[in-house]
Amino acid sequence: MRALFALLICAATSSAAQDIRFQQPLDCVLGKTCFIEDYVDTDPDERQAQDFTCGFNTRDGHKGTDFALLDFSDITKGVSVFAAADGQVLRTRDKMPDDRLQRGVTSNNACGNAVIIAHGDGYTSTYCHLKLGSVRVVPGEAIKAGQVLGLVGLSGQTSHPHLHFQVSKNNMRIDPFRPFQSNSCETAQPEETLWVETPEYHASILRFAGFSNSVPEYKDMRSAKALLKTSAGDQPLVLYIEAGLTQHGDVLEFYADGPNGEIFSHSILMKSPRKSERRAFGKRAPAKGWASGEYTGRVTLTRKGEIIANRFAHVTVVN
Ligand SMILES: [Zn+2]
Repeated sequence: MRALFALLICAATSSAAQDIRFQQPLDCVLGKTCFIEDYVDTDPDERQAQDFTCGFNTRDGHKGTDFALLDFSDITKGVSVFAAADGQVLRTRDKMPDDRLQRGVTSNNACGNAVIIAHGDGYTSTYCHLKLGSVRVVPGEAIKAGQVLGLVGLSGQTSHPHLHFQVSKNNMRIDPFRPFQSNSCETAQPEETLWVETPEYHASILRFAGFSNSVPEYKDMRSAKALLKTSAGDQPLVLYIEAGLTQHGDVLEFYADGPNGEIFSHSILMKSPRKSERRAFGKRAPAKGWASGEYTGRVTLTRKGEIIANRFAHVTVVN
């Protein structure tokens, strides 16, 4: 009898476990060439945002999981977006430009160039911000997990190369990291997820990245008052960031380049665990001034050799 009971329990568990499972939808290596940037916002309250661990790695109203790449040139090189599970293509869009400045983007087309796949049992997955002209599947087409759908781009509401991956069941948003309580968060990592292999979660965050002409006050970082869109050629360029929940031994790397290549690169070894700290690195203008054009900054947080967070900043030097 006990054996039968065990068998029944086992059967019940495995039928739950037969639910859909997703594999990584982007051709990259987490911790090396990409990282998970923003998770689903589990807090239904407006102006509040929490990820599935009650952490900060999300933003208000975010409905998906963002797999972010570390290099803008990845868009030129072409990084494949994969179907996360078997299914059938429901809809596609492939007419929007790759534009970091998001001109013409509205709430209706924020996803940009996209593919939506139906997986049966009410499940769908959505893949946003694909590169213009890269979508290579058509509505109605049967799809296998791992099949290439298109390439990462900069279409829709995005300012850097990343894939927004979103799961729904019966049109209700689901967090694949906490599928059975998608509108709540708990401190412990849930045991059951919708992933074939659940990516590791890192509580640390980077936010409020930007360029300024001096090290800004924290309040001016938060309010974006410190953030420069343009800068004069004779002014210093300072890249700043808030780093949260860092650990001893973490490395924070500052890098910036412009029309003539790299302008600085600097590493900071984080010595003591801190809840939140402001960090910045910059350089005075050379004697002839900075060349006119667009400058990109990148701040990367590395732990035990794995990249766990990254943020970009942009400024245009005008002479
Ligand atoms: Zn997203």
